[in-house]
Amino acid sequence: MSDIRSKTRTQFNKLQKRLRHNVGDAIADYHMIEDGDKVMVCLSGGKDSFTLLDILMNLQKTAPVRFEIIAVNLDQKQPGFPEHVLPEYLESIGVPYHIIERDTYSVVKRVIPEGATTCGLCSRLRRGILYGFAEEHGVTKIALGHHRDDLLETFFLNIFYGGKLKAMPPKLLSDDRKNIVIRPLAYCREKDIERFSAFKNFPIIPCNLCGSQENLQRKAMKQMLRGWDKQFPGRLETIFTSLQNVAPSQLADAKLFDFVGLQRSDGADDAPPPIRVEQPLVFDRAFAKARTAVILGTAE
Ligand code: SF4
Repeated sequence: MSDIRSKTRTQFNKLQKRLRHNVGDAIADYHMIEDGDKVMVCLSGGKDSFTLLDILMNLQKTAPVRFEIIAVNLDQKQPGFPEHVLPEYLESIGVPYHIIERDTYSVVKRVIPEGATTCGLCSRLRRGILYGFAEEHGVTKIALGHHRDDLLETFFLNIFYGGKLKAMPPKLLSDDRKNIVIRPLAYCREKDIERFSAFKNFPIIPCNLCGSQENLQRKAMKQMLRGWDKQFPGRLETIFTSLQNVAPSQLADAKLFDFVGLQRSDGADDAPPPIRVEQPLVFDRAFAKARTAVILGTAE
């Protein structure tokens, strides 16, 4: 083997190992996949979902828990969508798969006025169809290909334009509490995914077939984050760590911390500070209950 080929192979192995570690850590930290799970990997045809499927299939071989994978693509009937690409690829790697065909493209075109952004309605329709499929097919986890940089972009979009301190969680209970969404790439850097995808030569399907432009605000966030990453290496890692390290008493949300009830102590009473935890507890209980119901197959 020539030096260049062996160097390239070493680089690829290192990259693959890092991505596997990132995904394995995220799965373990958030208990994303449990024994007996049926994981539906949503495949759009982009680099992120191809990488997700590849890494999960790889982990499936060595994971201490047994879980099933089903790859699902929603063909939204965008003009020029190359229908043969995904089935050919999925058959070549031997993964069970399903292609759902729904013409959401026409619905979006009919409902949204010319020139207005179509992504909001399009993604709502897509989400509804995928959630419905998951319920009908005994899926216990829906895996999406969002990565660390998507989470950070969403975080800053919410701060700059939404006035909210929120991002995109690695694990989520759907609003109707019938589905659990997981994002196993939550710790993966987009630049690693880009390189991995190029190495693997995935048959990428362009994402602009619908004619919609990439959301300009999100594009601006991506540029901002990439600029920071170049200028201040390590900054994005630090910001992501801060999402896992929240101090409600050092922010200003009176729903999360009982600022009103703060009392001076005369030293005689060592009572802990009044942290208001009603919201997280309610969420945790509902979450645990729904999760158990999904696992036991008793979810409504
Ligand atoms: S880019 Fe097109 S296909 Fe993607 S969410 Fe927006 S409207 Fe839908």
